[in-house]
Amino acid sequence: MFCPQCGKENEAGARFCGHCGAAVGEPAPEPPPAPGRPVAPGEPVRIVDLSRAGPAVSPGLKWGVIAASVVFPIVGMGMGLYYWMRAESPEKLALGKTWFFVGLGITVFYFLLGTEQY
Ligand SMILES: [Zn+2]
Repeated sequence: MFCPQCGKENEAGARFCGHCGAAVGEPAPEPPPAPGRPVAPGEPVRIVDLSRAGPAVSPGLKWGVIAASVVFPIVGMGMGLYYWMRAESPEKLALGKTWFFVGLGITVFYFLLGTEQY
């Protein structure tokens, strides 16, 4: 590989001449501007597709909410009972009672909600 600037030899693959500092070797070829594909003004944008996605609440989200509503009270009651029965400290006892009654309340709430619907 000879320097096109000063004509001295350089290591193969060197990007700059070790003698004069000129760029040697194959310069990264600039990709020619792609012809025939200018950004057309007024071309429909993909964001438009999102507005056609339908209702805000998807079925997946709805089922996720239902699952969380069912799981949360059960876990809450379980955790509450666990802390309540262990009663290692007054704080945990109070926390257990709180969790238990919150879970129980949510369960009763959803039970009443369910019986009203059907
Ligand atoms: Zn050179």
